[in-house]
Formats: sequence, structure tokens, C-alpha cells
Amino acid sequence: MDLTELTITQAAQGLLRKQFSAVELAKAHLERIKSLEPKLHAFLHVAEQNALADAATADDLIAQGKNFPLTGIPYAVKDNILVSGMPATAASKILQNFVAPYDATIIRRLRQLGTIVLGKTNLDEFALGSSTENSAFGPTFNPYDTTRVPGGSSGGSAASVAAFEAVFALGTDTGGSIRQPAAFCGVVGLKPTQGRVSRYGLVAIGSSLDQAGVLSKTVEDAFLVLQQIAGMDEFSSTTLSKEVPDYSKFMDKGVKGFKIGLPKEYFAEGVEPEVKGLVESSAKKLQEQGAVLEEMSLSNASLPLAVYHLILPVEISSNLSRYDGIRYGLSVPSESLSEVYYQTRSAGFGPEAKRRIMIGTYASSAGYFDAYYKKAKQVQALIKQEFVEAFARYDLLLTPTTPTAAFKVGERAADPLAMYLADILTVASNISGVPAISIPAGLTKAGLPVGVQLIAPHFKEETLLQAGHALEQSLGLKLKPNLQL
Ligand code: GLN
Repeated sequence: MDLTELTITQAAQGLLRKQFSAVELAKAHLERIKSLEPKLHAFLHVAEQNALADAATADDLIAQGKNFPLTGIPYAVKDNILVSGMPATAASKILQNFVAPYDATIIRRLRQLGTIVLGKTNLDEFALGSSTENSAFGPTFNPYDTTRVPGGSSGGSAASVAAFEAVFALGTDTGGSIRQPAAFCGVVGLKPTQGRVSRYGLVAIGSSLDQAGVLSKTVEDAFLVLQQIAGMDEFSSTTLSKEVPDYSKFMDKGVKGFKIGLPKEYFAEGVEPEVKGLVESSAKKLQEQGAVLEEMSLSNASLPLAVYHLILPVEISSNLSRYDGIRYGLSVPSESLSEVYYQTRSAGFGPEAKRRIMIGTYASSAGYFDAYYKKAKQVQALIKQEFVEAFARYDLLLTPTTPTAAFKVGERAADPLAMYLADILTVASNISGVPAISIPAGLTKAGLPVGVQLIAPHFKEETLLQAGHALEQSLGLKLKPNLQL
């Protein structure tokens, strides 16, 4: 048995039946990481010693019958989420030497169950990008074709799960950063409702838009993890005290009677025919199982990306002001305090972070605030309203996750607008706050994964599970990249 091929459900069963130990499971993944990393560069930091020690503890728990869901499961963590004692660089030079002094709430909750952190994964600097090329420490490569990007910003997390280096991974999604790389790498990517999961211990960029979530091999696995990380956190002012349902009850309920809307703007010009074809076949699979499909319109569909690129930079310019050379990470010595700020920030931030800070500072400055930021917030309200109205008629919306499959490394690196377009189908869920999931729909003729996106009403993640699991079962894909070890 190749232990790295197992899903969470399968691995948990094997551990319980003592078919293998947590140490063996962790070792298998660490070995795979060692052999694949020269090709993929999904990790910025591999925590071998910690992982083996935590795996031994998990084996003790299992031996004593004190195991929980996820005990002994090894996973990877995007490097903008704090794991106590490990580096947390957010792939920025400004945080190169920063070591996290505490666990993010989601890590603490998983740690209490006896899970194992394998290491920290690569991302676009401060999660700003769609290809992981904006990492200050070099790009990650797509396991399906190493001349292509894995997507971003959670590109390292997506590649690590796709290549079986980790059973699952945590990521963050502010405009598509879990779903878009999940689509490019052929894995499941779940972005919960804004407020469902704690943001405590995440490197903040857009406090009103950032949301932590899961990248996994199956829809079931994504929800096994969500079950544990979701819910109110007194340390995170953006979580809401909505009860977290028992997701396992929804898994096999099927889609009979579900009304699913296909917004025509999401299948329009710019979406590659092959992507469109695979996503439409996925929709048909749900129809065969009793869902009712209907073409509909989201007439504001052209607005979310523009709104996002005003609201997010404004929040970035505020959130990134804390990296001043005094409080965290890099500090370039200089004669005066303002020179320390200037020199540190000039040396520490990469071009995309600087671009966003400048746009955000401009859009929120006196004289421009009303025309840009305030207007964007007003349009955001309209977009939200349109989703609420759509969900009065539909249980779910179904769209492609991205307009294209993975593009070549370097292809969009010099063109920020082309890069921003990679998120055109994912940002609306962040702007309106609704939950969404990307599920593999199949491979293009060139062997590249394509994702289908399901979008549900606020706090209705269980609908994503119900439909997502049904879709996955009927597609029956067994994806595995062809990587020579
Ligand atoms: N790619 C988008 C951006 O560049 C989304 C990033 C994210 O979700 N963190 O802002």
C-alpha cells in the first residue's frame, strides 16, 4: 500500500485498524516531500523532527484509545498561517526571519486532535497573486506540468496535496486563493462563508475578505477538516456565532430536487471551450441525479473584480503598515525613524505588495475616498444583494472555477491585469461573503486539471458537501499526476 495515496478517511481507518502507525504515515509523506521538492518547491519549510515527534504522540493516543477525528493525519500549512515555533514568512523578505510565537486558532484546534504539521507551504508574497510566482523565495511548479504554474496564492498547498506530499493542506482565500490553485492542480478547494472560520493567527491582508479553508483530495475530506476548524472564536472579531452543523449527516443526501443556477455570464467569452465543456458535463451529472438546472443571469457579474481591486488594496495598505522595521522581521538600520521605515519597506516588500499598497493608499486618501473606496463599498452591497436574490430561487450556483487551465510559468508575470483575470470567476464569493468550493471536473486534452465551482448561500456549506460529494461520486475521477520520482 502506498500510504501517500490515502484520503483522510482511508488513513484514519488504517490507523485505527493498526494497519500502519502515524509515524509510518508521516515518514511516507516526508520521504515523498524529499524526493519531489527539487521539482515542485511546494514547501518553504519542512518540519521533519516536529512531525515525527507529533506522530509518535498520535500513536500513543491511538494506542490508548484516545483518538479523535483526524488523529495522526499529516498536513501542510500555507506560510501565512502561524504555527508556533515555525517560520511564518508569508513568502516575503520582510518576514524572512520571523518565527511564529503562537498557534493560529485553526492550528490549535487541529493540534488538540493529534494532527501533524509537515511544514509550511509556498505562496505569492502576502497571498497577493494567482500563480505563486510572486513568492520572494521562488515559484512553485504545477505537478501536472512543471512548466506551468500551480495557481495562487495557495499554490504550495495545492501542489502539495495534488502530488501526495500531504494528505490535506490549509490555505487562505481572499479573492480565490484556495479555489483557483485547487482547480489548476486537480484537488478540492473549500472557501467557507466569511465569518465561519477564525482568522486569528493569519497574516492579514484584507480583514473583511480573508477566509481560511481547506485543500484536499476529496469533498468529504474538506468537510472533515472544516468540522474541526469552523465556529466562533473569541480571539477573532470576524467569526460569527452560527452553529456548526454535523456535516457527516449531509454527505449522502444527494441532489434530488436541488435547483441549480448556471449564471450565463460565467460561461461567456474568455472561458476556454475545453473548460466550458468539462464544467457543463459536470452539471449534466448532477442533472442525471435529479437536480434541476437552469440558465440564469447575474447581471452585475462584471463588477466584483473591479470592486475587489479597490477594497482589498485599501485594507492591505492598512494591514501591511505594521511591517515597519520595528515590530516584525526585517529591519534596515538607518539614521532616523522615518528612514528605517522607508529603507525596510523598500527592501522588504516585493513589487506586487508595493503596487497594492500604493493603489490602496491612493484610493482611500482624502479627495479620492468618495470616488473610489466608498463607491466600491456601495457596489459591494449591490453584488451581495444580487446573490441573496439569486439564492431565493436556487439552492446552488454552478460555474467554472477559472476561465483557463494552468498557464505557463512566466506567461503572465509581467502583466498584472492578465494575472488579476485568473480570479474573475472566484472573487464574487469573497465580495458577497458566500461559501464556494472547487472540485476537479476532469482533465483537458493536454492533461491539465479543470475545476467546477459550486457556490451556496451564506452559512450553507452543507449544500456544497451534498452536491460536491454527489458530483465527485458520479465523475469517479482518480487523479494522479505523472511525476517521476
Ligand atoms: N489572486 C488574488 C489576488 O491577487 C487573490 C488573492 C487571495 O485570495 N489571497 O489578490
